[in-house]
Amino acid sequence: MYINQSIYQKLDNVCAEYGAQWIAVTKLRPVDALAELYAMGKRSFGENKAQELCDKYEILPKDIDWHFIGHLQTNKVKQIIDKVSTIHAVDSMKLLNEIQKEASKINKKVAIFIQMYVAQEETKYGFSPEEMLDFFDQFQAENYPNISIQGIMAMASFTDNKSQIEEEFCRVKTMLAAINSDYNMTLSEMSIGMSGDYNIALKCGATRLRIGNILFN
Ligand SMILES: *Cc1c(COP(=O)(O)O)cnc(C)c1O
Repeated sequence: MYINQSIYQKLDNVCAEYGAQWIAVTKLRPVDALAELYAMGKRSFGENKAQELCDKYEILPKDIDWHFIGHLQTNKVKQIIDKVSTIHAVDSMKLLNEIQKEASKINKKVAIFIQMYVAQEETKYGFSPEEMLDFFDQFQAENYPNISIQGIMAMASFTDNKSQIEEEFCRVKTMLAAINSDYNMTLSEMSIGMSGDYNIALKCGATRLRIGNILFN
């Protein structure tokens, strides 16, 4: 048994309570672990490597809802575009353009999240608040008929300081509200919350949790 059944149940319950959804992050886990999740009824899986996602996709049932959750290189978009429903960490206009291009080739609409950088750690990925606003200044929905922006994705700092994590998630919520009012959009989703901080994320308005570690025995 790969899966911690009580955590699985707890995630289902708490997500129902908050009207959120959780994605099982299955990166680096064997196919048998994914099959066990599938047998339990799970259909939303998250992977962060294109090749690994493709390999698992080939083997597992076709009604799985695949999410690409990590940094995605532009040259890998082609490999996954026909397999994923959602790409969670769009961190450049170049990547967005590539997703549009490849999705249009196969006549598919892909859900995406724009990644915002809120953590204190140095990281290469995600937009700062200023860059986020620049992005939406430039973004013209009519040029992206094959993309549906759901909202913002972010990762909080790796820390035990709960108020810091809360403050970081709150910045995501504030940004979402600013984009909606400044750019006349109706983005409603926040892909925030992982194993260590999902309770805080839910209180801050998370609509999608990405859960790995705690799910597994
Ligand atoms: C690995 C990963 C997760 C899951 O993290 P856990 O701490 O294992 O729950 C969520 N989001 C992204 C982008 C990841 O790479």
